[in-house]
Amino acid sequence: MRIDLHNHTTRCNHAKGSMQNYIERAIELGIDIYGFSEHAPMDFDEHYRLKFNEMQDYTTDVKTLKEQYKNKIKILLGYEVDYLKGYIDERVIHANVDYLIGSVHFLDKWGFDNPEFISEYQNQDIDDIWQSYFDAVEAMAKTGYFDIVGHFDLIKVFQYMPKKDIRLIAQNALKAIKEAGMVLELNAAGLRKPIKEIYPSPLLLEMAYELNIPITFSSDAHAIGQVGYKYKEVIALAKKTGYTQAVTFEQREKELITF
Ligand SMILES: [Zn+2]
Ligand SMILES: [Zn+2]
Repeated sequence: MRIDLHNHTTRCNHAKGSMQNYIERAIELGIDIYGFSEHAPMDFDEHYRLKFNEMQDYTTDVKTLKEQYKNKIKILLGYEVDYLKGYIDERVIHANVDYLIGSVHFLDKWGFDNPEFISEYQNQDIDDIWQSYFDAVEAMAKTGYFDIVGHFDLIKVFQYMPKKDIRLIAQNALKAIKEAGMVLELNAAGLRKPIKEIYPSPLLLEMAYELNIPITFSSDAHAIGQVGYKYKEVIALAKKTGYTQAVTFEQREKELITF
């Protein structure tokens, strides 16, 4: 069984291709379970995400495709939700979806994964930046609002690495993820970024495995050509770490499948 749960649509204004084309491509690649997880609405950085008044249309579009393609592929409805204090919105948290991905893209409103704001890395100690990032992931897990952790070590994106042992920086976040019953995604987008590595790194994935934290798979596609991105590499990392099963969701309920 092949799963890909983290994918975007043109509604976030930074992805290309129709939803139908994403699905057609997923079917071509033999993906069995495909989830849309558009950037959820939020009253911050509004341009690069759904609008609140588009939630219904997005839902309808996904459900229409789900019905249309039901004999070929299982389509799921989700959101990728930004964890940013003060901006969590009930309409998103309580949306009727299959799953919610919780992601940290902002540290005190600094879009640290955006090349436009890369100079900010020079203004703070790199260990402090990494720690603030994983503190935010820990706080996100502790809310209990989300099912999947989006790109767990996104802070490595530009390859500014900490001096301190990453395992020490990330350990409390992993414990919170375990306690919250959340799932880690193996996200291939890192392979398209300067770091050229899957999120999370092999080292952090090993820690997750030791904690019995389940995983799922994501290409984080923002273009048709990114659907199922580097799947072989991603599967190889999971297997090498010891995983044989991955999680899919239906109406916020986990289901384990063998990949
Ligand atoms: Zn995006
Ligand atoms: Zn993301």
